Amino acid sequence: MMAAKGHLFIISGPSGAGKSTVLGTILRKRPQLRYSISYTTRLPRGNEQDGVDYHFISEVAFRKKIETGELAEWAEVHDRLYGTSAIYIEEALAVGQDVLLDIDVQGAKRLFSKYPEAISVFVAVPDMAELRKRLMKRGTDSPEAVERRLKDAEEEMTQVHLYDHVLVNDDLNQTVSRLEAILYEK
Ligand code: 5GP
Repeated sequence: MMAAKGHLFIISGPSGAGKSTVLGTILRKRPQLRYSISYTTRLPRGNEQDGVDYHFISEVAFRKKIETGELAEWAEVHDRLYGTSAIYIEEALAVGQDVLLDIDVQGAKRLFSKYPEAISVFVAVPDMAELRKRLMKRGTDSPEAVERRLKDAEEEMTQVHLYDHVLVNDDLNQTVSRLEAILYEK
């Protein structure tokens, strides 16, 4: 008998909204959930590892993937390229595995039309002042990069209406349980 197709979960939200902490917690609690590791041309930050947080590749290698149709979607975010492996998500979904994507709004929009049945969640910050504080506290970005991320965050926040659910992340544990409820009480 063929396995039922897995669910595709698309999560977006400004960087610094605490999205990766929320997703990391969910992934530890739900080891059966597959995380799609994106390709990016940006450099690793802090203790990020190649093949774990991202596949860090050159711009030439990234452009080649676009040409050969290997990416389900891709976008330029904060002046860098980011993209999702088409084969990874297709293979996982085909064997009934649920797949979680952490992608920006532009990429999400592309996937909404390709995967209309995907469940989408936007993780928002309570306010911009709080976001600035979080990005500065993280200490992994230059002041220019922080400003760039804030500008992009404002832009992203205008698109929340495109998502099935919006979670304001003012408390980590609460956000994790709300997200679990969305993903598992589908
Ligand atoms: P960061 O550089 O902070 O890890 O990620 C910056 C932004 O890129 C985040 O909003 C994240 O969701 C987005 N992003 C990460 N991977 C992908 C991807 O494969 N495709 C798209 N479109 N956005 C991505």
